[in-house]
Amino acid sequence: MCGIVVAVARKTIVSVLLEGLRKLEYRGYDSAGVAVLNGDALVRVRSAGRVADLTTETEKQGLVGDTGIAHTRWATHGAPCERNAHPHISNGLAVVHNGIIENHEQLRCELKAAGYEFTSDTDTEVIAHLIHQNLAGSPDLVSAVRAACTHLIGAYAIGVIQQDNPHTAIVAREGSPLVLGLADDANYAASDTAALLQVTRRMVYLENGDVAVLTPESVTITRQDGSPAIREEVASQLSADAVELGAYAHYMQKEIFEQPGAIINTLDMLGSAQTVQAGWFGAQAEGIFRDIDRILILACGTSYHAGLTARYWLESLAKLPVSVEIASEYRYRDSVPDPKTLVIAISQSGETADTLAALKH
Ligand code: GLU
Repeated sequence: MCGIVVAVARKTIVSVLLEGLRKLEYRGYDSAGVAVLNGDALVRVRSAGRVADLTTETEKQGLVGDTGIAHTRWATHGAPCERNAHPHISNGLAVVHNGIIENHEQLRCELKAAGYEFTSDTDTEVIAHLIHQNLAGSPDLVSAVRAACTHLIGAYAIGVIQQDNPHTAIVAREGSPLVLGLADDANYAASDTAALLQVTRRMVYLENGDVAVLTPESVTITRQDGSPAIREEVASQLSADAVELGAYAHYMQKEIFEQPGAIINTLDMLGSAQTVQAGWFGAQAEGIFRDIDRILILACGTSYHAGLTARYWLESLAKLPVSVEIASEYRYRDSVPDPKTLVIAISQSGETADTLAALKH
């Protein structure tokens, strides 16, 4: 799970981008980078180390800019190194990306044939060149981003800035999370609210297939076909230090020690009920539960092992046969769908790409 931060203002936003990345560190990453527009210049700084190393480097270079994108990378294609760190650039256009582009090899071949030179081993770089290629037949940057998105297969949240487009950033999502943060003198986007609480509590959650244009004064959300999309603004209640490491040595240790509290909070939500109520699982759950004769649990890693434990409990309590499958296998194999199977997907982050793809499948 990588992290994206996007900011557009009329004052320098470098410290907001870096603090946003720091708040996203809990998601794990192997390298980090930032690109900003400063007048006519597009400036990029990347580091194969921690966000603190990137910050030191930006300070050394005296980086300033009023429009920018930043990224913590969790490598899926290409080794974790500076050359593969985001943002990736194509002809004055910079892109950060969270997710996986499944058809990147085919797109890379087509773009190479069209004359584009690749400087990284990532799947992400195809997005930068693809948007640039689409600029030719598009009236503006957002149209080029929309057109490029229609060629992408896979999961993505992207942030895009362009040298010729000051005070503008485009973001789009399909599969990977993206939230907008609204403020009076600036607008923002990030992989989650934690990165933006430093500047605003006014959040707008984008849906799959949304594309948004951010300027310091406005936010315009459309669907990939250009039709307008209305998304509700919500006030975030998350405490600003919810993702702070505090006294813990690292985030895994923090999460282990948070388990008792998480269980107490969950049980508190269930009130004084003595038995499991179908209604806890949603308005239609009772009808659905009555009509199933098997359960299939899809998960990866530790969640898969949690699923194996759940299997023992569910078979003993519900007296229904339960199978547990590794989501990254299930999504690619031919299985026999059965409408009377209840599918349960488990993901700690809610973003595990293979589990989401298996669920869709
Ligand atoms: N697939 C991209 C890469 O390997 C993005 C990974 C991420 O989400 O950080 O560079």
